Amino acid sequence: MKLDWAAASDTGQVRANNQDSAVAEDGLFAVADGMGGHAAGEVASRVAVEALRVSAEGNGLVEAVRAANQAVIDRADTDPALRGMGTTMVAIAREGEQVVMVNVGDSRGYLFRDGQLQQITEDHNLVAQLLREGRLTREEARVHPQRNIITRVLGNDPDVEIDVFTVDAFRGDRFLLCSDGLFNEVDDDAVADVLRNHRDPQAVADELVRRANAGGGRDNITVVVVDVLDDNDRSRAASVALAGAAATSVAEPIPAAPTESARRARRADDSISVEPPRPRWVTWRSVLFALAMLLVIGSIAGSFWWFGRNTFYVGVDGDQVAIFRGRPSGLLWLDPTVEQRTTLTLSDVPAARRDDVEKGKDQADLATARRYVVNLRQQAAEERAATTPTSSSTTTTTAPSPGTPTTTTSTP
Ligand code: MG
Repeated sequence: MKLDWAAASDTGQVRANNQDSAVAEDGLFAVADGMGGHAAGEVASRVAVEALRVSAEGNGLVEAVRAANQAVIDRADTDPALRGMGTTMVAIAREGEQVVMVNVGDSRGYLFRDGQLQQITEDHNLVAQLLREGRLTREEARVHPQRNIITRVLGNDPDVEIDVFTVDAFRGDRFLLCSDGLFNEVDDDAVADVLRNHRDPQAVADELVRRANAGGGRDNITVVVVDVLDDNDRSRAASVALAGAAATSVAEPIPAAPTESARRARRADDSISVEPPRPRWVTWRSVLFALAMLLVIGSIAGSFWWFGRNTFYVGVDGDQVAIFRGRPSGLLWLDPTVEQRTTLTLSDVPAARRDDVEKGKDQADLATARRYVVNLRQQAAEERAATTPTSSSTTTTTAPSPGTPTTTTSTP
């Protein structure tokens, strides 16, 4: 998986110092928002991201965050001035063909995919908790005076709970990590606009910081933007990843730390030239849909075929009466075919029936069609018999004889 990335951080318009820290290097990205008196918050976030970088060299991301947590605790123990400091941390790492995202605190991780911005992380703060419990409305939460109170940080509990999300990343995906200095000043729609309208990740990062400052800049602002340039044509993973709406934020226990060979493979990734990415529209959903459509079309075609091939009519072939299989004017691609010829000609057919036969007289089945032909012949004979005795002078002896079917299989 090939990535491109950029970061930007700013003190903002109000704060005296910047207590945010960030990591942005190939395969490891993090934003930490420190808190504590004086410069303690700055120390907390810096100690955390340094420990994260070091630990991530040989461990999975969750282990690295645990190490960061312990490093902040240890550092606070060495200096009474730092006691009580803590930091948020949201981080992502490339692990095989997935992106693993971890979160502690109220910084955020987003995924921007197909033009849509989705917050993957859950805010660990009082207001978000009250919101989840249904004790606040979204409107109340937005202006709640205690919305800065966070419920989970690094630097406090050695066994801190770490949220983990794994994302099957695809070419074109854009990850955004940020501190609350961004999203408290710039709403998600505006953030999505910036992600949509700037191709260069550095331009995105700079524009987001600019907008947060323009919105008031009441806190430090830090953003990391990570673009997935290449997804190594993960055909199998693709269908799994797109199998459900939750595909982009499937929270799963993180696998054990990658093996040394996996880590080497990961580093070698960038030098591997890969095939063009698998088209994203080939999902199991689209395949199922196509199959269902084929089934529907097939059964409709089958019905037409059955109807077109199992109906009969009596009509004329040239000037000979015949039994046809099909519909008089055909049905879609199914032209009628002669099922059985007769020796009757159109002129033998009684005048009252001639029109019907010329147009093609529908019959329920082959037997009915044969009976119809027999009737035609009988009526023709009766007509001749009725006219012959009374017209002695005009009788001709060359009247056409009633026909019989020429086929040998059956005789109507
Ligand atoms: Mg902050």
